[in-house]
Amino acid sequence: MLSPAVQSRIALDPARYPETHGAIDRTGIIVATTWELDRAATGRCCSRNTRQLVGSPEVRYKAAQLVLGGHNDMKRSTNRILTSHVGSLPRPADLINMYREQVPAEKLDSRLTSAVAEVVRQQVEAGIDVVNDGEFGKPMSDEVDYGAWATYIHQRLSGFEMRDLPADFNILNSIMGGSKDRSDFADYYKSPEAYAGPSTRPVRFPMNVGPIRYTGHELVGRDIKNFKAALAGKNVEDAFMTAAVTGVNFFPGEYYKQPEEQATAVAEAMREEYKAITDAGINVQLDDPIIVNVYEWRFSMGGDMAAFRKWAESHVELVNHALAGIPEEKVRYHICWGSWKGPHSTDLPLRNVIDLMLKVKANQYSVEAANPQHEHEWKDWRDVKLPAGKAVIPGVVSHKTNVLEHPQVVADRIMRYAEAVGRENVVAGTDCGLGGRIHPQIAWAKLRALSAGAEKASRQLWARTAFPT
Ligand SMILES: [Zn+2]
Repeated sequence: MLSPAVQSRIALDPARYPETHGAIDRTGIIVATTWELDRAATGRCCSRNTRQLVGSPEVRYKAAQLVLGGHNDMKRSTNRILTSHVGSLPRPADLINMYREQVPAEKLDSRLTSAVAEVVRQQVEAGIDVVNDGEFGKPMSDEVDYGAWATYIHQRLSGFEMRDLPADFNILNSIMGGSKDRSDFADYYKSPEAYAGPSTRPVRFPMNVGPIRYTGHELVGRDIKNFKAALAGKNVEDAFMTAAVTGVNFFPGEYYKQPEEQATAVAEAMREEYKAITDAGINVQLDDPIIVNVYEWRFSMGGDMAAFRKWAESHVELVNHALAGIPEEKVRYHICWGSWKGPHSTDLPLRNVIDLMLKVKANQYSVEAANPQHEHEWKDWRDVKLPAGKAVIPGVVSHKTNVLEHPQVVADRIMRYAEAVGRENVVAGTDCGLGGRIHPQIAWAKLRALSAGAEKASRQLWARTAFPT
C-alpha cells in the first residue's frame, strides 16, 4: 500500500493501473513503484526509470503502457537492461567471525545493520539496479560456504534437532552418491582440487523430530528492517530478498511418516517467510537448485527422464503450494545446478525442465546462462513461450570461474536473450550467489562487469527507440 502521504497527493486510477505501478496526478502519469512514490513524497525522488509523462490523457495512457510493458509490480527492463544478481554477496570477515564465534544477538545485530548498509551501497556503486541485503542475515561461518542459502532455515523452523553424523558417514555421498558426473570423474572428485570448503566444519545434521512450524518471524523481521534502513535514500530500481524453497532438508526425519509430508510441512512453514518479505513491499526470490539437482543426484545414472519429470511436476506443485497467497508479481524463482567446481557433465539440460519451471507462480525466472554447460541454453528460450508480463534473469557472469567476464561478453549474452525473449523481458543477473563461492575482490569485479555489459547492450538495444517524454 502507498503511504497516506502519497495517497493524499495522488489520485490513483486502479482501473487502468495497479497502484504499485502508475499513478496520475494533475500534471501527468507518474510511472513508478510504490517505493518510488513513497520516496517522492518524502523528497527522496527518483530513480532513473521514473518518468513523468505529458500529453493528452490518451497519449499518456499509451505511453505508460509502453513504459510498463504490462501490469507488473516487479521492475522490468523498460528503457534499458536492468541489472541484478542471485543473492549471496561476500560477507565482511568480521561478520563471518561473529557467526563462527556465535556472539550474542546484540553484538551481531548492530554489526549486521551496518554490514547490510555497506553491501547495499556497494551494489549501487557497482551499478546494480535490483539489489538485496547480500543474504547477510543467513549465517555463514566460513569464507567458503555453498550452503548458507539453505542451512539458515533450521534456525527458523521448529521440529529439528542437531545430531552427530556417524564417523564413517560421508554427507556428500549420501546426497550426491547417485550422480553420474561424480562417478565418471571419480578421481577428480577425490582430489583436493574438487573440494572447496573448510576441513573443520562440524559434521552434524538437522534431524526432524517434531512438528515443523515457522519460528523465524523475529529473524526475518530483523533482516527486513536492516534492508529497508539500508535502502533509505538509495537510488535503486527494485529490491528483493531470498528465501529457501522446500525440499532443502534432505534427511529423512523421525516425526513425519513420509518424506512428502515433511516437505509439505516445510513448504507451509516457509510460506510465512515469503509472506513477511512481500508484505514488507520487497520482492521475494525462491532459491531452488533442488529441482534440477535431484536429476543429478537420483536420475542421472539411469537417465530416466520420465521418472525425473514425474518427480519434478510434484515438486513444482509443492512450490506453488508454498506460494499460495503470495502475490505472483512479487516472486522471483531461481534455479541453478549446484555451485561446486566440477565438470557438471551430466547436469539436467534446461530444455527438460523449462516448461515445468514456468509453471511456478513467479514473475521472473533466474537461470544459469554464463557457464560452459549452460550458456548455449539461451536457444531453448526461442522454443518456449514466455508468458506475457514475465521476465528472465539469465546469469551473464558466473560464480563457477575466477576468469572475469569481459563487458562485451556480458553484452553479447544479454543480446542473445533479448533476441530470444524480447529486451524488456531480460534482467541481467549472475549464475548463482557470489558470496561464499568466489573471492570478494573477483565477486565485485564481476558485478561491475555485469553492469558495464548491460550498459553496452542497452545502447544497442534501445539505439533507435524514441522514448516518450
Ligand atoms: Zn543458485
